[in-house]
Amino acid sequence: MQKLLKPFFICIVLAFGTFIATAQQPMEKKKQKNPNGAFSKFIGGFSLHASTGFGMTFFSHEIQGPGILQQKDGNVYLFDNFYVIGGDSLNTGYTGWTNNAQSSSNIPIGDEDFLLGTDTLAIKYKGAGGSIPFSVAVSYTFDRYRFGGGVTYEQSFAAKYYPNALTNDLQPFKTDFVTSSITRYYGYVGGEVFRSIRHTIAIDAMIGTFKYGKKKFNPDQIKYKLFVNIGVSFERSLSEYFKVFVRPSLEIKRYELTIPGLNYALTHSAPAMYFSIGAIIRIPDLNKCPVSQCHSQINHRHGGNVYRSKMHPFWKWQNPNYGQNYPQLIKYKGKNKKKKNPY
Ligand SMILES: [Zn+2]
Repeated sequence: MQKLLKPFFICIVLAFGTFIATAQQPMEKKKQKNPNGAFSKFIGGFSLHASTGFGMTFFSHEIQGPGILQQKDGNVYLFDNFYVIGGDSLNTGYTGWTNNAQSSSNIPIGDEDFLLGTDTLAIKYKGAGGSIPFSVAVSYTFDRYRFGGGVTYEQSFAAKYYPNALTNDLQPFKTDFVTSSITRYYGYVGGEVFRSIRHTIAIDAMIGTFKYGKKKFNPDQIKYKLFVNIGVSFERSLSEYFKVFVRPSLEIKRYELTIPGLNYALTHSAPAMYFSIGAIIRIPDLNKCPVSQCHSQINHRHGGNVYRSKMHPFWKWQNPNYGQNYPQLIKYKGKNKKKKNPY
């Protein structure tokens, strides 16, 4: 985990610096009165989030108790340490203890193979693997706080595990799969710590359940713990209703795999670092203007109600004072530049 922190903070500092450099407005709270009533205001608090990105997971587990048989340039097996080795074979050994433990019988022990009892020396195996997450979420904003929930589907690449000790005798091993899926369901809570007209910084956390795909990770052997992901979201509004964001985050998660037969439970720690990019759409609290001849470009009234402009696309930035559908005057555009009287 220690190794993770440094690049993570550099990442945060860089993102923060870029953000401050582009954010020109001071912190200010935008208060908008919505005369269309409490229900509209309530609806307007909801946002939809979608994101993808890149992740790196740092797997590790410690073996203390069982014996290890490392075949020279071959498989590595765990076995019951109380088993007395006589002759040149192992009665029962286990592989695949990262995801789906399997037993093998009568494993030959060659002259160059290595045997170790981990009751005296614990061995830690470590490996790192990348992943690509796809996430959708719904949140509700109240004042500067956000609550919500979401789902993430992630494609993760398998790690190669390296032993932390006796590296002349023990060898790295690969899992029996290349990629696996991870599904998560989570609750979400966050708070905005900076807000200007176009920029927001929020610190947020996701807490929930995760599961690897059943095809590669045996659900009968594995118990999953809750995961916690803490991140900082740097958001830029492209319009009143549409934002894009980047979110570096750190995650803590673990699962426990029990090897049947050996009756040994291994805790697999899988902390991760993510860099996500995404978009947030706020559900418009104002209805679109229903008057067919109306060309108003800003939020405006008809009768007692306020409507959103029908001329102005919802993803486009709208200056609250005059709209910005046509930020450049027609007479400065394209071929009009050369005309004396473009109108
Ligand atoms: Zn109108």
